[in-house]
Amino acid sequence: MASPQRRGGRRQPGQYGVGSSATDPRWKGEAGRLGQGHLPSPAAPEDGLGIFAIVGHSCPLYPRLPGRDCSGRTLPSDDAVETAAEGRSPVGHQLGERSDGPACTPVQRVLLALTIPLEMLQVVKGRMMQAMNKGLSRQTHAQATVKMLPTYICSTPNGTENGNVLVVELCQSHVRILLATFLGDRNDSPQLTDKIFDMPGDITQGTGEALFDFIAQCVHQFLGAMSISKERLPLGFVFPFSCRQTRLDKAELISWSKGFSCSDVEGKDVVQLLQLAINKQELSHVEVVALLNDTVGTMMTCSMREIPCEVALIVDKGTNSCFMAEAQHVQTVEETNGQMCVNTEWGCFGDDGALNDILTPYDQHVDQESSNPGVKRFEKLVGSLYLGDIVRHALIALATEKVLFIGSDITALGTKGALRTQEVLEIINNEEGMTKARMTLEALGLRPSERDCCRVQQICRAVVSRSAALCGAGLAAILSLIRQSRGLERLLINVAVDGELYRAHGRFKEILQTVVGLLAPECLTRLLPSVDGTGRGAAMVTAVALRLADQRREVNQLLAPLRLTRADLERVQALMRQEMDLGLGKETNANASVRMLPTYVRGTPDGTERGEFLALDLGGTNFRVLVVRMAEKGIRMASQIYVIPANIMQGTGQALFDHIIDCIMDFQLKQDLMGQVLPLGFTFSFPCKQMGLDKAVLLTWTKGFSASDCVGKDVVQLLREAAQRKQHLALKVVAVVNDTVGTMMSCGYDDPKCEIGLIVGTGTNACYMEEMQNVGTVEGEQGRMCINMEWGAFGDNGCLDHLFTEFDRMVDEKTINPGKQRFEKLISGMYLGEIVRHILLALVEKQILFHDKACPTLQNKDIFKTKFLSTIEIDGLALKKVRAILWDLELQANFEDSVLVREVCQTVSLRAAQLCAAGLAAVVEKMRENRGLGQLAVTVGVDGTLYKMHPSFSQHLQQTLQDLAPNCAVTFLQSEDGSGKGAALVAAVAVRGDES
Ligand code: ADP
Repeated sequence: MASPQRRGGRRQPGQYGVGSSATDPRWKGEAGRLGQGHLPSPAAPEDGLGIFAIVGHSCPLYPRLPGRDCSGRTLPSDDAVETAAEGRSPVGHQLGERSDGPACTPVQRVLLALTIPLEMLQVVKGRMMQAMNKGLSRQTHAQATVKMLPTYICSTPNGTENGNVLVVELCQSHVRILLATFLGDRNDSPQLTDKIFDMPGDITQGTGEALFDFIAQCVHQFLGAMSISKERLPLGFVFPFSCRQTRLDKAELISWSKGFSCSDVEGKDVVQLLQLAINKQELSHVEVVALLNDTVGTMMTCSMREIPCEVALIVDKGTNSCFMAEAQHVQTVEETNGQMCVNTEWGCFGDDGALNDILTPYDQHVDQESSNPGVKRFEKLVGSLYLGDIVRHALIALATEKVLFIGSDITALGTKGALRTQEVLEIINNEEGMTKARMTLEALGLRPSERDCCRVQQICRAVVSRSAALCGAGLAAILSLIRQSRGLERLLINVAVDGELYRAHGRFKEILQTVVGLLAPECLTRLLPSVDGTGRGAAMVTAVALRLADQRREVNQLLAPLRLTRADLERVQALMRQEMDLGLGKETNANASVRMLPTYVRGTPDGTERGEFLALDLGGTNFRVLVVRMAEKGIRMASQIYVIPANIMQGTGQALFDHIIDCIMDFQLKQDLMGQVLPLGFTFSFPCKQMGLDKAVLLTWTKGFSASDCVGKDVVQLLREAAQRKQHLALKVVAVVNDTVGTMMSCGYDDPKCEIGLIVGTGTNACYMEEMQNVGTVEGEQGRMCINMEWGAFGDNGCLDHLFTEFDRMVDEKTINPGKQRFEKLISGMYLGEIVRHILLALVEKQILFHDKACPTLQNKDIFKTKFLSTIEIDGLALKKVRAILWDLELQANFEDSVLVREVCQTVSLRAAQLCAAGLAAVVEKMRENRGLGQLAVTVGVDGTLYKMHPSFSQHLQQTLQDLAPNCAVTFLQSEDGSGKGAALVAAVAVRGDES
């Protein structure tokens, strides 16, 4: 099997994942650090470091291994061993149980045991990912070893953070108070002032009250020496104990550790305890707004760069990491929007045995000697607290076998902590290392030979290299998890790293970077050292929390007028009812904003309609001509769409109707209907005063039409005149209907309870069956007639003015009919995208959205289509898809922007659905009253792309309607081609009526 890594000398450029980073312009200037120049060359002459060597055999004096390991298994061949030292990974090599064998020296055996081949690192990475997914899942979280704790930190700094922030850091023996001043000027470094207060020894063992009082006194004293105003001062609390956090500012202490055992704190909210103590000091302007651990702080300090820092890694005495996860993957919290920083607590990885096959006897000894045997297994392989002891146990084993320190008394080696990690790090230093090894061993009463010192150095290297490689595998797991969950092919990311091991040992960094490059090659990763992650980082978390809180307040303020209460909706319902009555009244009709136009349609279909009909559909997005055949077996249709060019829509009436006749003739020709005289139903979806079933006077154009010489004229007559002009004499128009009526009729064919029609597409309108006795504008008292409400104009008399926001007004002003169709402009597809666009512009102006990114396209009218609302609002849609839509519009949204845009879309579409429901509630309630029923069961036939395509519009509409009209059981039936089929059905019902 070929090794993924060839000899260093033959390695191809870009073979390391990180190598190709040099080609990405965003990494310019960093190529040297990230590219191959930065990587340890696998054939580096000074120590022959390759990936195999990275994790173990890096001593130049390291002897060539023979072909078999000590247990007799096939080891890498001589060639492979050679290459192991030069840069290849051993293949097929197993770690685990080892026994003495003739072909392997004891030192080689120890080194092999401490070596993790690349393949195995890959396996560790996979297991880490599994463990992380287990921690994130609601079902498996309880059993997970890697807990993946939500931190409730949902954003990284963006440089606009502003103002003073206080940090309280509770440490082992002191409290550090720090004041950070952010200038909001993208400056990476806030101004910092800090002071350390030593803690009396007994505090950590006393009462919780005493501890928090002490901390509050420190704050008091610190602030007393400062001259800052008494304005609200937010405080971030670094509390390095295990907590159950449920909000950024709410965290119950699970249990004390690190020598603390104050009474009455466990199980309590430590944020609240600190706030109470601070209030006692009469510092109530100081507000504890965030509780956090040190890992998060580390991430924050590296974030104010072009590419946000979204992962942090600490390799200190212990080890931990955190990263910005997609909130919807953190199933242990309710929030599904945006991102949330997750504290992995990966030190416990392996506590379920997941690392057993890489543990050596020396690791087992270290674990047994520890205060918490069996737990924190990953940490015990990686953290600096343990590395010295791992080396020590390896040395004991070799000394016991009389391989090392022959003739020395090794008693001192038996003491835990006898060899410190600091000494291990100094020993592996190339120049001074051998001298340091000798000094250290001699200090332990040993008498090492030159060869002993070299072997000790090899073992030290192996242990530290293994720590770095394991960290790299863990980090690669995080990066792959992020990349996968964001659905990205490549991930460009900054990782903040802190801790003694990382800082003190250059090789550690190199190995870490190399392993990450090999195990997560699709991620371009930049490791950034963090400075004062805890204090400065905590200040940043606090400042970010504050920025977000301020932003939230502003967003809420901006969106508040669009968020309607139940009372608002009840008022709309009542107003609609009032306008309906005015519209129906003979005397009042002229002044009603809802025109309540009689349609002369007196019945809905009964299923006995038969024959062949033509239908025209004008007034939607397209103009269509149809032939509709009604037979016993049902309805069959054929249709063709014709474009009405803008110059005709807005030209002369004659040109418009001539164009329509041309289209009809073309259609009849194509359908072989030229010789026939078929009854024609004309769906004409503009406000008309209907004088008879085949006579409709256009009241006003809407939806972008403005053809001259049409308003005030009978459109059927205009059509007939055009037919005359075009010599098309076989045209028999029997009915002109509105698309709303058509929708009701076509649904009525399938459901006799369908007595309401509703359209929510480009525009919005409704019709319903009213009692003739209530229709004051038509003679006759018997039966019912369908009333075309033309409710889009509801509010044109000012009765809805209280509902219009500044955004609605701006949208209205830029339409061709300002001040008209006011209800429609709050609801329908032609306007929702525009309303969203205006809100986004306002958010940009307030510097809440697309921060610092130019977004000139947002100025373009109609750029934000209503169909985008539908996509953006799809439940659970990955944020990257939202981002993709915005990027297509040249809006460089980040994840926070995407979340905010989604919220705006949701607000606008929810309001539209609720207003539509309020209107319908008035209709169904009136019908119920008309019929003197306690309960009304009625069906609404609906059409319109917004209703049909939007992911939640219909649901919100139905819920709100049920809430506003609880005595009406309303069913919604989507109309299939209502305006085509419906017009033909009106014609058919009319023809049936004529015949009977
Ligand atoms: P019309 O009302 O003109 O007969 P439609 O019912 O097809 O035609 O509605 C078209 C309107 O629907 C367009 O103005 C557009 O704003 C809106 N629209 C188009 N696609 C979608 C979608 N996927 N989601 C929501 N609205 C949409």
